[in-house]
Amino acid sequence: MRVLVVNAGSSSLKCQLIETDGKVSLMKCLAEKAGTLDVFMNVSFAPGFQKTAHDVAGLTVPECLEKLLRVLVTDPASPIRRLDEVRAIGNRIVAGGEFFSASVLIDHDVREKLSLCEELAPLHNPAADACIDLMRRLMPDTPQVAVFDTAFHATMPPKAYLYPLPMAYYEKYKIRRYGAHGTSHRYAAQQAANLLGRPLEDLGLITCHLGNGGSITAVNHGESIDTTMGFTPLEGLMMGTRSGSVDPAIITYLMRRENMSYDEMDAVLNRESGVLGISGISADMRDVLEAAGAGNAQAELAIEMYVYRVQKAIGSYYAAMTRTDAVVMTAGIGENSAELRERIFAGLAHMGMILDKERNDVTGQIGVNRVISIDDSPIKICIVTTDEEMRIARETDDLVCRMPA
Ligand code: ADP
Repeated sequence: MRVLVVNAGSSSLKCQLIETDGKVSLMKCLAEKAGTLDVFMNVSFAPGFQKTAHDVAGLTVPECLEKLLRVLVTDPASPIRRLDEVRAIGNRIVAGGEFFSASVLIDHDVREKLSLCEELAPLHNPAADACIDLMRRLMPDTPQVAVFDTAFHATMPPKAYLYPLPMAYYEKYKIRRYGAHGTSHRYAAQQAANLLGRPLEDLGLITCHLGNGGSITAVNHGESIDTTMGFTPLEGLMMGTRSGSVDPAIITYLMRRENMSYDEMDAVLNRESGVLGISGISADMRDVLEAAGAGNAQAELAIEMYVYRVQKAIGSYYAAMTRTDAVVMTAGIGENSAELRERIFAGLAHMGMILDKERNDVTGQIGVNRVISIDDSPIKICIVTTDEEMRIARETDDLVCRMPA
């Protein structure tokens, strides 16, 4: 089945056309900085995936998607000529609230509930909903599926998902922890079990999704029992531009002192903090590592803080689980930065997580799932390449196949 996977963020759009039968990608598209003057969009097709830049000046995220559909039916390299050759659309949705604990086909009722989830992930959900609406307009007969980042965490017990606030706020507004990156954590856990050659149900795993956004999950016997992201994807680790957890009193204090509006405060926490806020250089870990290497003290401090917060989260989940068999590293930083992995695990050897420096350093193995701890490490350390788009395509295929004829 040919599935178009749509992964929309506030200013970025990642799409793939995936043939689920052979698990192959036929087209990849990345648009970034949408809604700004610097917006760009690259599209590439199998087999060579030679990138072509398209003119998207001034376009928003859904407008970039509309442009992509035109490219899909006109580019000679595209495997399709008509949009109805796309059998289904799989949408990545960051927040599903308490409405959704599994992927669903999108109908009128689901679409209404999705609107109610928008404020839970204000950077991501509104853009995803706008893309769903666009596709319903342009491809009304093509089934659409929503795959939620929160669904995997629906197994968290109340002691993990509730905040110690007056219970009335949970009852009234469903203020609780939902987590995110669930598709990635679920996949990382399953792949790690395959690597270790043991059933997922027998294992205790700590999965670390370290990308632009970052979260860590305690996966006990195959189920998420706790995760660092909370009511929104702002809680937990220090991230590219997000603060992660801070004393909530700082927010009211700053708003008073700086006379800031809610939106301004929201922008500080979501877009101006984290690695960017401390380093003053970039949200991109590669830039910050380079600057630190060249002696920039702020960049070095940002990395130290980043590493320290990851270490503390891993330690706390070691305590939360009944056993820990492996720590799994995935996403941009987790998969690619040997330096960050080395710094993180240098502080965790006393817990039995002992990195093998050579295995960690191996280059040329990008994209290969592997174990990078020493043979005798009581807790294994694994790298798993995340493939969010493929997972979304598979889930979409599953649901569409089960649709009544
Ligand atoms: P997202 O999907 O959340 O946008 P990714 O999983 O693509 O993010 O991760 C992006 C992050 O990974 C960026 O901070 C980027 O700098 C970092 N990254 C990618 N490759 C490397 C590398 N070789 N070394 C260090 N960081 C890297």
